[in-house]
Amino acid sequence: MSLAQQQAPIVAVTTAPGKGAVGVVRVSGRDLSGLIAALCGRSLRAREATYGPFRDAGGEAIDHGLAIHFPAPHSYTGEDVLELQAHGGPVVLQLLLTRCLAVAQALAAQDARHPLAGLRLAQPGEFTQRAFLNDKLDLAQAEAIADLIDASTEQAARSATRSLAGAFSQQVHGLRDHLIALRTLVEATLDFPEEEIDFIEAYGVRDTLGGLLAELDGLQRQTRQGALLREGMQVVIAGQPNVGKSSLLNALAGEELAIVTSIAGTTRDVVRQSIQIEGVPLHVIDTAGLRGAHEGEADAVEAIGMQRAWSQIERADAVLFLHDLTRQHDAAHRAHDARIGTELTQRLPRQVPVVHVWNKADAADPAAQAQGAAEHTSGIHQPALETQPQPDPAAQPAEQLAHTTTVGAAQASEATALTGHHLRLSAKTGAGLTELRQLLLRLVGWEKQAEGVFIARARHVQALDAVHGHLLRAAEHVQPQAVMLDLMAEELRLAQQALASITGEFTADDLLGSIFSTFCIGK
Ligand code: GDP
Ligand code: ZN
Repeated sequence: MSLAQQQAPIVAVTTAPGKGAVGVVRVSGRDLSGLIAALCGRSLRAREATYGPFRDAGGEAIDHGLAIHFPAPHSYTGEDVLELQAHGGPVVLQLLLTRCLAVAQALAAQDARHPLAGLRLAQPGEFTQRAFLNDKLDLAQAEAIADLIDASTEQAARSATRSLAGAFSQQVHGLRDHLIALRTLVEATLDFPEEEIDFIEAYGVRDTLGGLLAELDGLQRQTRQGALLREGMQVVIAGQPNVGKSSLLNALAGEELAIVTSIAGTTRDVVRQSIQIEGVPLHVIDTAGLRGAHEGEADAVEAIGMQRAWSQIERADAVLFLHDLTRQHDAAHRAHDARIGTELTQRLPRQVPVVHVWNKADAADPAAQAQGAAEHTSGIHQPALETQPQPDPAAQPAEQLAHTTTVGAAQASEATALTGHHLRLSAKTGAGLTELRQLLLRLVGWEKQAEGVFIARARHVQALDAVHGHLLRAAEHVQPQAVMLDLMAEELRLAQQALASITGEFTADDLLGSIFSTFCIGK
């Protein structure tokens, strides 16, 4: 798009497609007085709703409604904005839109430099992009608008409102100001190399840097929580056919969604359901029954289902590996579980926590009660609850589950495969579901928040991680044995740049484009 096109006036229907009581057409441009005169037949008082006809070229009313003029710069975009509230029918709104374009075209025909020349349909997010470019809001606030519209839980919506009001940006700015203060000091000293050491002592540079890192740490924690609220958590329910995966999904969702049957292998496709736990969106995916990769009995359709299941599992934040307590007497069944467990361990690309859910506790084998019970069924066995916030399986002794009834090779493979967290429940009666929900929250690192979460995005988390990296490297350059102030100064500069990318002070155009293009049209 040429610069002229980028800056051209824009118009869009800003209300959702379809029929509604009211529909809104919004125009933004440098000077809309010509359009207002043609449409409304008079000028409008600033920011006052005026009822009247919206006229077509012949002076006849297309519709009657409210027109509001927001003269620049006191508008959403910072430009001249006109909002027409008409009846919310697609045809009426389309007529109004077409009429705006025609008025602009007629004015441009008389005067190619007319401020309405080039009026065109707005692209997704373009009104908000103009608001950003005109400093009406920063990038994090602009993103919060989209996140508010997309919010899937009340908690996410409230947090987006907080970000929109600037709660997140203010903290970013606070950190930025402290960073700038330090940079100023460091750069002033660069010109006097012989004084570097004195300077570092005199101004307590190491302490200042330590303080910055602590401030950053707090912001990173909050930002991760905010991102969790926005992105939610992907949880995959895996396990053999008929162990109760669909039942567990339904129990978590509280409604009948996946098809539950007692014929093995019915859930051939992937069923996805979004629920929430304490406001954290949880995307639960029920996978096709996993028979284990080396199983000859799976048919072609099932093989595709299994492939999809694995691709979901590989992207999960946590895996719920279901076991059937009523089938623990069945050695072949247990061997299957062990194989799936091994495969999970091998294929999970990172340290995705695996929760072993021992289902059908209400109808468990007496044998499983008596034997398996010794390890994992005597009360709920939850190692994760003792090691928060983010248990790192590699860093801890693996929680092992050994079936006392199993012998030989099978026992060895089960013991290594079934590592992770263990939980006993009944999808049928709901016993143990509360514990499962709490465990999931802890696994993603959700901290119970009374108030004050702001919404954030993965992009923000990454930017803060980059800031963290630069500050750590800056600290290395003020170690007593190796002071390198110029290198430190450079790291501080990079840290500030990474920080500024959050609010959009230094943000590449293509990133801006990709952010705004995900907005809805008319926003
Ligand atoms: P999936 O193939 O793993 O999705 O298993 P389903 O959810 O379709 O359940 C298979 C069968 O096990 C159904 O008959 C369910 O009613 C039954 N089932 C599931 N969970 C429980 C449970 O907690 N207790 C009992 N007694 N039966 C269950
Ligand atoms: Zn199922």
